[in-house]
Amino acid sequence: MNYDVVVVGAGPVGSTAARYAANNGASVLLLEEHASIGSPVECTGLLSTRAVSECDVKPSDEFVLNDVRGAFIYSPGGGCLPIDGGKTKAYAVSRKMFDRRLVAMATQAGADILLRAKAVGLETGPTVQTLDVLHKGLRKTITAGVVIGADGVQGKISKMAGLGQVQKVLSGIQVEAPYVSKDNDFVELFPGSPAPGFFAWTVPLDDRISRIGLAIPAGAETPSLGYLNRLLSSNPHVSKQYGGGSLDLVLGGIPLGPLKRTVSEGVMIVGDAAGQVKPTSGGGVYTGAVCAKIAGEVAALAASEGDASSVRLNEYETRWRQKLGRELGIGMKIHEYMGGLNDAELNDLLTSMNTPAILDMITEYGDMDQPSVLIKKLLSPTNSLRMLNVFRAFARTVL
Ligand SMILES: Cc1cc2nc3c(=O)[nH]c(=O)nc-3n(C[C@H](O)[C@H](O)[C@H](O)COP(=O)(O)OP(=O)(O)OC[C@H]3O[C@@H](n4cnc5c(N)ncnc54)[C@H](O)[C@@H]3O)c2cc1C
Repeated sequence: MNYDVVVVGAGPVGSTAARYAANNGASVLLLEEHASIGSPVECTGLLSTRAVSECDVKPSDEFVLNDVRGAFIYSPGGGCLPIDGGKTKAYAVSRKMFDRRLVAMATQAGADILLRAKAVGLETGPTVQTLDVLHKGLRKTITAGVVIGADGVQGKISKMAGLGQVQKVLSGIQVEAPYVSKDNDFVELFPGSPAPGFFAWTVPLDDRISRIGLAIPAGAETPSLGYLNRLLSSNPHVSKQYGGGSLDLVLGGIPLGPLKRTVSEGVMIVGDAAGQVKPTSGGGVYTGAVCAKIAGEVAALAASEGDASSVRLNEYETRWRQKLGRELGIGMKIHEYMGGLNDAELNDLLTSMNTPAILDMITEYGDMDQPSVLIKKLLSPTNSLRMLNVFRAFARTVL
């Protein structure tokens, strides 16, 4: 088997890269180790409206389960900061159906797909890449002009290509469970001790069922399951709304902080495998899709030129960093700053943000894909001294 471009991993990022490579004239093969697309799910499925449109799909009942317009942020002390976006800002989706739609779009663009096909070895060269693949238990050799590693947080292609590891991994856990939402247009966020170093969440699918989860740094002393049990049984807000039991359990890693290099001879790494994830929210579909489009296009062109050198493929590295590098860098600083606050500091911060002026500003400029836009507005010299005081320590750390 010989293709211009082989994409390893048929998640949303791999299928988008495959589609863009096919649309740019390449013969493309998409490899997926599982027997079924979009399963197992390792996601809350909260996608910003921008993330959905970045994947070139229109929101539809096929995968959208609920519209979300804002967030209630609960401080550890129990106070609530209501952020109302005023219109639909995000969708709670079925990731299984969403991923399937994206794979269907890739195959419609001309990409071939092989399920139950796991890439287990890789030899690279300036023009030909050789992948060792286990397909339904049988060994196969597949050659490609360019290989795109879109194999997720546990992906091995980056290591096989000598590109190392992402900076940090969070350990995520979530149940889908009976939960009476206060308002099912709003997600709920719980920073601080409910999930030290990140946050816990509830994302409503309707007024009776929510996805309830959290993430903490991998390797923490108390495992994520311990925090989830505590959230469900004794958080003063969650335990009152939670109806008991669970309909689904999700476990997964969230990679933060991109690889130092995402390109080597014959290979590009994209999506979770490259750490192209928003450090403020753990969301990787929007950022991954932005990068996948560039990777697919560059891979197709490089393969058609017969030049898979890292110098040629570096166009991908340059272009994705131009688009997202700064935002991911600021996001990482916000993540580290927020994760380092103790409960008392978080209580103070959220209380001082609960003013009409700040809430208006968040409504106008809050953007889950680009938090730096709001930060810039909040810290602008035209704002009141009081607002600047609230964010002074933050500004010192982040800027
Ligand atoms: C608990 C949790 C909640 C999350 N919530 C959100 C959210 O609400 N919104 C959001 O945007 N993001 C969220 N994320 C992150 C999101 O799930 C990922 O960013 C997104 O799935 C990345 O897509 P991807 O295509 O890069 O990787 P993946 O979706 O992980 O896909 C990688 C694919 O590669 C396959 N694969 C791996 N190795 C091989 C191999 N050797 N050969 C063949 N196939 C292989 C895998 O089977 C998989 O199908 C969450 C993550 C977690 C863990």
